[in-house]
Amino acid sequence: MNNKVISLGELSTASLPRVLGDFGNIFHPDNYDHYRNAVNSTLDLVQEFLYRNDKPFSGIEAKEMKEKVQQIDLNQKLSNYNELLSEVDDIYVKHATAFHLPQYVAHLNCPVVIPALAGEILVSAINSSQDTYDQSAGGTFMERKLIDWTAEQLGFSTAESDGVFTAGGSQSNLMGLVMMRDVYSQKRYNHNIKMDGLPREAGRFRIFVSDKSHFSNLKNASIMGLGEKCIVKVPTDERFRMEISLLKKYIKREEQLGNIPIGIVATAGTTDFGNIDPLEDIANIAAHYNIWMHVDAAYGCALLLSEKYRNLLNGIERADSVTIDYHKSFFQPISSSAFIVKNKKELLILKHHADYLNPKEMDEEEIPAQINKSITQSTRRFDALKLWFTLRMMGKEQLSEYTDTIIDLTKAAAAIITEDQEFELLSDSDLSVLVFRHIRPEIKDWDALNQYIKMKLFYSGEILVASTKVNGNFYLKFTFLNPITTIDDVHQILTKIKMHGKDFNTEK
Ligand SMILES: *Cc1c(COP(=O)(O)O)cnc(C)c1O
Repeated sequence: MNNKVISLGELSTASLPRVLGDFGNIFHPDNYDHYRNAVNSTLDLVQEFLYRNDKPFSGIEAKEMKEKVQQIDLNQKLSNYNELLSEVDDIYVKHATAFHLPQYVAHLNCPVVIPALAGEILVSAINSSQDTYDQSAGGTFMERKLIDWTAEQLGFSTAESDGVFTAGGSQSNLMGLVMMRDVYSQKRYNHNIKMDGLPREAGRFRIFVSDKSHFSNLKNASIMGLGEKCIVKVPTDERFRMEISLLKKYIKREEQLGNIPIGIVATAGTTDFGNIDPLEDIANIAAHYNIWMHVDAAYGCALLLSEKYRNLLNGIERADSVTIDYHKSFFQPISSSAFIVKNKKELLILKHHADYLNPKEMDEEEIPAQINKSITQSTRRFDALKLWFTLRMMGKEQLSEYTDTIIDLTKAAAAIITEDQEFELLSDSDLSVLVFRHIRPEIKDWDALNQYIKMKLFYSGEILVASTKVNGNFYLKFTFLNPITTIDDVHQILTKIKMHGKDFNTEK
């Protein structure tokens, strides 16, 4: 047997020379030049993307796009960044949607602000993971401070409230529904869902949303084991906001059927219309039934910072929990979202149910760990840093100006569409979406006309608009999220729409 003891000196890696040729791809001080060159070359491609694009989309068809990507042999490596960047340019950047152009007015994709992009460099290079203090010391408290700041904008007491950054609004909504369900079950039946699974009554749980609420509520209900049947869709008024008299009626009806209302989701800014459910009225009803009120402000959170329009969110301070999407309305790169809860003791339900009413628990928290607040993520990016960069460089005031500019533009655009005989506007917007259609009396099928226009615009790549169906009819949809967009841009877009509308005439 060889019992030779290796001395510590012999083991020390410091004495071994590093073979940089082999490990030159590792982010490390010895390889900083490599890092900087790689990033600079990539920045050149970013510049190409910006300077080359005068329309938001190349118009490429899915079939051709698929072929381009499939051609590539991933087992055949490339020899330098030039080759790589030219490949990626070809299959990605050239056909990437340019959200920053005023001709992009389709979905809820905001242009991003430069401070956030600078922050992103640190987020990915340092690569902190937000789950525990020992993986992100400063980051833990910076995230908490931004959560507190957001809670303060909501009108919550920062001493009482808490929250966490999430991957997106859908995930934040999931947290809202889980808390609604678990707190209800704990309080009413002293039943701990985390430990014991769903109580017998869960099959009769009912959650009230408007029929224009986000579809993530349905998905979330189904993964929570409540089934989509637990979501009761309350019809909306002429501005597509939850109709309060019907909410009352629907709650009573469900009770008469033997079902159990456990909460209401108010949408502050619907995806399709940007209108805000009557938050005060909903808060009153939730208080009357002593049930949870979650506000999905994924989109409407923009107004939190607005001097001019903040009052539209009055009543949000009465919510038990709120969804915030900074990547929808705070000009942040994806992902950047948060879930905020009014009573931090209730957030502990995610960690350990049985003790969640014990306030001592919070005071005794010795080593802070954000993972206790996260529902589906362990390793988690330090996305909060991008918002930090943004807020510190731009301030709340400038963010507010951007938002006000967008909303004012939407109002001006709504006026133009309303006055024009060739358009029909379905509703004005509290935020920045307009649903409308092109009408031509001589044409019978307006659905076909508007579908045709949308396709023409998409494959020309000149203008990207969205669409939606309302009462079975097809409408075009503008979502304005870019403060750079002017009323002239809107005029030009409308002119193009009419132009394509005329082609429909001649082709039919
Ligand atoms: C976009 C949106 C969501 C979902 O947010 P993601 O970040 O896309 O997951 C939820 N609610 C509303 C009202 C939205 O507009």
